[in-house]
Amino acid sequence: LLLEKVEKQKRGGTTKRATPATPARVRSIRPGADNSRNIPSEVQRGVGERDGDQCAFVSKDGRRCTERTFLEFHHIVPYALGGKATIENISLRCRRHNQYEAELVFGPHGASVVREVGGIQWAGSA
Ligand SMILES: [Zn+2]
Repeated sequence: LLLEKVEKQKRGGTTKRATPATPARVRSIRPGADNSRNIPSEVQRGVGERDGDQCAFVSKDGRRCTERTFLEFHHIVPYALGGKATIENISLRCRRHNQYEAELVFGPHGASVVREVGGIQWAGSA
């Protein structure tokens, strides 16, 4: 019993100075900075093929955006929230819709980070 106690104390002592849990990265999010440089080229290719090189945004009435220019790679689950750069999590968006969805998550100025995200329904991939 005594040994057990000592063990616990030891462990408690070593973890005291562990790195803080809040990831510093989350604080420096800027929507729109979320661009293709983090996305492997095979994922970019796969997403482009799947989405037909067209914005994959689908409006509430079920109509898909027809924009084929100024396309950007949109993280369905934001990169800053742990979303991976996979074909499943990346979708093509025109500039306008990428901006629009970024604002849903980050607010118009990118200031209010992360907190509200739990309530958002991802319109995401078809
Ligand atoms: Zn669009």
